[in-house]
Parts: sequence; structure tokens; C-alpha cells
Amino acid sequence: MDTTKIYLPESKIPVSWYNILPDMPVAMAPVINPATLKPVTPDDLKPIFPMALIEQEMSKERYIPIPEPVREIYSLWRPTPLYRARRLEKALGTPARIYYKYEGVSPAGSHKPNTAVAQAYYNKQAGINRLTTETGAGQWGSALALAGQLFNMEVKVYMVKVSYQQKPYRRSMIQAWGATVIPSPSNETQSGRAILAVDPDSTGSLGMAISEAVEEAALTEGTNYALGSVLNHVLLHQTVIGTEAIEAFKEFEDYPDVVIGCVGGGSNYGGIMLPFMRERLQNGKETSFIAVEPKSCPTLTKGLYEFDFGDTGKMTPIMKMHTLGHTFVPPGIHAGGLRYHGMAPIISSLVKAGLVEPRAYYQNEVFAAAVQFARSEGIIPAPETAHAIKAVIDEALKAKETGQEKAILFNFSGHGHFDMAAYDAYFAGNLEDFAYPEEKIQQALHDLPKVEL
Ligand SMILES: *Cc1c(COP(=O)(O)O)cnc(C)c1O
Repeated sequence: MDTTKIYLPESKIPVSWYNILPDMPVAMAPVINPATLKPVTPDDLKPIFPMALIEQEMSKERYIPIPEPVREIYSLWRPTPLYRARRLEKALGTPARIYYKYEGVSPAGSHKPNTAVAQAYYNKQAGINRLTTETGAGQWGSALALAGQLFNMEVKVYMVKVSYQQKPYRRSMIQAWGATVIPSPSNETQSGRAILAVDPDSTGSLGMAISEAVEEAALTEGTNYALGSVLNHVLLHQTVIGTEAIEAFKEFEDYPDVVIGCVGGGSNYGGIMLPFMRERLQNGKETSFIAVEPKSCPTLTKGLYEFDFGDTGKMTPIMKMHTLGHTFVPPGIHAGGLRYHGMAPIISSLVKAGLVEPRAYYQNEVFAAAVQFARSEGIIPAPETAHAIKAVIDEALKAKETGQEKAILFNFSGHGHFDMAAYDAYFAGNLEDFAYPEEKIQQALHDLPKVEL
């Protein structure tokens, strides 16, 4: 029988995370303090993050050791399997070899616990016993609730109101792991009250929920904040995905020609891609890279590469990144996740440098790809993951046309078991294809902070 998947032994759980900062082909812009409009200092970030994570955010060390207690928790589900999608290849009639790293085996069902566990650990080490965070669809909130529970910490989750109402099961998972979850915008923070004063029926957005969580952490002694994507240290923790993938490829005696992933804030894609980017930049491997996003939230394909806030309330540091503007509110008709207005500065910078190709798809073609995958490989993907699958299928069909025998790797960021309402909407023909209007992007330009360095 031909090999379908490689499960590395627990001894192969990586011992270090890979930090791309010293290897970036172009220098990254500094992160800016929103109050002073000057580059942030570690002290500026101390009210919300522990020093260990602040240091990782700015580190020039290429490899950062993974603490043993974090590796121990990783061993509950890591190493994750690397699959060869032989049945999908056959269904497509492609000469391409398709591989995926399956992150859906974590307790929360996605890649997110890889950083949640690390962040909870460093906060606990610093004497912090309580964390706040935001969540959109609920994956990050549930991952942090899990991590908080494993380190005996309290977690409070501000959940985007529309998801709180429409995704009751993610909410239940957050509660099952002992965390508190409230709909955002809420009356519990100044930034929440300010939004409700203008729009009492606001359905919320990630940008608003981040403001609430950051505000509470900044003003509460003994409480810190945890972010599930975008930041350098989050992508750093996710590099266990790519590091394991490189090891597992040796067992397949293969190596990817292209690495594909979906991008919301860029963490799962950064996690799989960065170790392969190192191999390209340092060791001359010729891998190419594709980042996939929805047409309704086209941060990389249509957004501006400018300094912007990470949240609606302008509380977070200002970062140079692709952005649709911090006032962005995603269209309610969009079912596929990946709704954040900004993008990880590392991913933005690699796109700007021409090393990562961004691509955007409509949601109906994305769900069609998800269904095709489920019907050949069995696993039902999260709608976010399905964006990557759509690009994989396109690449595999292109390979069929040209007779090219290439190896395609994608990150299977999570399963879709809590997203069946979105599948229902697709099957009922209720999903509308929507491209974010150009005027809105131009409008956002007026709200960008004026940073002069
Ligand atoms: C959160 C999430 C994403 C998007 O976030 P990134 O930071 O871009 O990875 C993608 N897939 C799944 C399954 C998620 O839970």
C-alpha cells in the first residue's frame, strides 16, 4: 500500500521555534506607539504582555527554545500528521502530488492552540493569572480557554456579537474549558460603550473586540492580553507546523514546489510557510508561496501597505501592514471567516518583497472546493481552510494541463465541524459572492494614522 500519512514520533516535536526576523530579505518597519507616534519600546507593551513575549516579538535570535512544559502540552496532539491527498489527486486526474499538514487534530480543532499554550505559559511564568482576548468565529477564544485551563488561569473572551448569536457551540466550548465569554461591543469597557452610543445595534467586529480586550487588560492589575494572530511572536509559535512538515517530507522522500495557506491575520500560513521560506532564502530551494484570502475581505490583494492600527479603538500599536483600514466592518453575508482588516507585518512584508503571491476567491467557489475535498479525502474543512483548498485544486488542474509533476503542500488549518451552518447556507444556495468595493478601500485611506519616521 502506498503511504497516505506520516505520523512523526513524539520525540520529533520541535525543540525550537524558527524566528524569521534575522533572515527577512528587507528590514521590517518599526512598530509605532499610538500615543507618541514614535517606535514602541518594550516598556510601552508591559501593561498587556509579559516580557518574554515582548522579547520574542523583537528577537534577532534565529531559533528560540520551546519550554519543556509547552512541549509536554503539545504532545497531547503533536506532531500532527502530514497527509498525501491521493484520493483528491485521483479525483482531479492531476499528475501533481498534493500534501496537507492536518492541524485539525488539536483539542480545539485548529492550529490556534500552538500559540495559545505558549502565550498562557509565559504569562503564568510572569505571575499573571488572568487573560483577556477577543474572538471572531470562536476558534481563538476556544483555543485560549483550553490553554488557560491547562495552566489554571482565568480567561475572559470578548466575542464578536454576530458570532456570539450565530455560533452557540464555539461559545459552549469556551465555557466547557472554564472561560467567560461575553458579546462585543459590550457595556463593560469605555471603547464598547463608545461604539454602542453611536450604534446600539452594532453586530461587532474583530477590531472592536480587540479594543475591549486590550482596554481591560491595560487597566486591570494582574490581567494581560493575548492575541491569536498577526504579531511576530504568534507566527513564531506556529512555526512548529512547518518545522514538522520538513521532517515528515523526508519520510515521503519528497519536497514541496509550492506552499499554500489561507490568511486571516496570517498565523497558520506563517506557521507552515516560514520554515520553507528559510530553506528558500538560505539554502536555495525553489519553492513558491501562495496566500489565499476571501474577495470580501481582500487585505493582501486590494488593501494598502501602510501604517495602521490593529483595532477600531486605536488602542493597539500601529503596524506597517496590508490593511483595509481599522474602521473595516466585514459584510454580514460572508460565511467563510478570515475577516480581519489587517495582516501580519511579516506576511505583508514578504508579499511586498514579491516572495509570496496573494490570491483571492469568492465564497461559493471556496465552498465547492471544500465539498470536493470532503467527498474525496473525507475530512470536512473549516471554511477558512477551504480557501487554501480552492487554490490547491486550481494549481493541481493547472499542473494537469501542462503535465507538470509538482508537489503541492497546504496547511489544513482546522476542521469544519462547528461551521455546518455555513455549509447549510451554501447547500441552500444562500451564499452571495461579494467583492469588497474599491470606494470603501479609498475611504479607509483617510482614517490611517499619519506616521512620519
Ligand atoms: C483562525 C483561523 C484561521 C485564520 O487565522 P490565521 O491567523 O490567518 O491563521 C484559519 N483557519 C482556521 C481553522 C482558523 O481557526
